[in-house]
Amino acid sequence: MPGSQPYDVIVIGLGSMGGAAANALAERGARVLGLETYQPGHDRGSAHGGTRIIRQSYFEDSAYVPLLFSSYAGFRKLEQESGRDLMQLCGGIYIGHPESKTFAGSHAAALEHGLEHEVLTAAQIRERFPTMDPRDDAMGLYEANAGYVRPEETVRANVEVAARKGAELHFDEPVLYWSAEGEGVTVRTALGNYRASRLVITPGAWAPELLAGMRLPLSVERMVFHWFTPDFDATPQPAWSEEQHPIYVEQTGENLQIYGFPMTDGPEGGFKLGFFREGIPTTANTIDRSIYPAENVRMQARARELFPHLSGEVVQAKTCLYTVTPDEHFIIGLHPEHPQVSVACGFSGHGFKFVPVVGEILADLALTGETAHPIELFDPQRSSLQG
Ligand SMILES: Cc1cc2nc3c(=O)[nH]c(=O)nc-3n(C[C@H](O)[C@H](O)[C@H](O)COP(=O)(O)OP(=O)(O)OC[C@H]3O[C@@H](n4cnc5c(N)ncnc54)[C@H](O)[C@@H]3O)c2cc1C
Repeated sequence: MPGSQPYDVIVIGLGSMGGAAANALAERGARVLGLETYQPGHDRGSAHGGTRIIRQSYFEDSAYVPLLFSSYAGFRKLEQESGRDLMQLCGGIYIGHPESKTFAGSHAAALEHGLEHEVLTAAQIRERFPTMDPRDDAMGLYEANAGYVRPEETVRANVEVAARKGAELHFDEPVLYWSAEGEGVTVRTALGNYRASRLVITPGAWAPELLAGMRLPLSVERMVFHWFTPDFDATPQPAWSEEQHPIYVEQTGENLQIYGFPMTDGPEGGFKLGFFREGIPTTANTIDRSIYPAENVRMQARARELFPHLSGEVVQAKTCLYTVTPDEHFIIGLHPEHPQVSVACGFSGHGFKFVPVVGEILADLALTGETAHPIELFDPQRSSLQG
């Protein structure tokens, strides 16, 4: 890359994807400047709350599976480089009617990619996982190679390792404006203008503001996760712990899809679960972060359909932001009008498990304009994104 600019690449937004991009770019020897509004591991965007599901038998589309292979390897590499504990594989189960997307989609992805899995009936699920009481007509796809990753720790690990590899990272410095002209880009903050040859924009729920020129049909949504204390008298504690309890996604019939985790310890500890979709439209700057009693009641009632012994109270609840595309597939690619700008947004509530591979893809795009990873599904100019 020509050395005419002070930086090779500027990354706007050092959250999930931007942190990984800064790390991958620094690893390849690029002179990187990263700019972020908040501090690493903050709770204003999409990357907080202690845990994120990671799984391979991907019901959303089997085209995601090869990316997941890269991502799993990437999380292990980042653990080694950072000395942080990031990924815990406690198994995962996806429960639904035999023809449902949750079950049948997972099963199809597992078969297509030869992933190890077991198909369980409702009775087998009850026997194996005594916390759960699925409907009689439900089926489960269980895979051992699933679990959770830690979002705040991952973001911190990426920015620490990126800085160690030479990236210059500025926190508490929001970007006010960017422009692309000629071969380069200019980025403005309250502290001044920065110039570079390439720009990577990973703004999370701030995409409608930072990528306004692309007119993307994004819906920013307020989601809530709830932490409960289970009733250990009804079902003893070991059954809720990650030694015995998998992550899960469940939707059987007309109810809303839920997902959740085994019991975890620490400040974000408890038995955490949430609704997968159906958030309330909002914006990143105006979201109502209060949690209302009716939301707790609704979550608890739905959760008890699968976990009848979840009689404990809500111990904690927090809001989080989704940035949703019409087809719920990501947006990753070159900016249609400015090929020196790469963008990644619209992760539609399921992006975290892809953090390491998205970092690699963004480094490929910024440094070479292309990538060998399969990203056709994420084309910023695909028909479902056109108004
Ligand atoms: C409730 C909930 C549950 C989820 N569960 C899962 C799950 O189980 N599994 C899974 O894979 N995914 C899950 N996700 C989705 C996943 O967390 C997101 O897809 C992912 O974190 C999005 O990453 P991002 O980099 O786009 O956004 P973020 O991580 O939010 O990063 C964007 C960053 O850009 C910064 N920024 C924005 N504007 C500016 C500016 N002008 N200047 C400088 N910096 C700026 C922000 O401050 C932020 O740090 C969940 C999300 C939520 C909310």
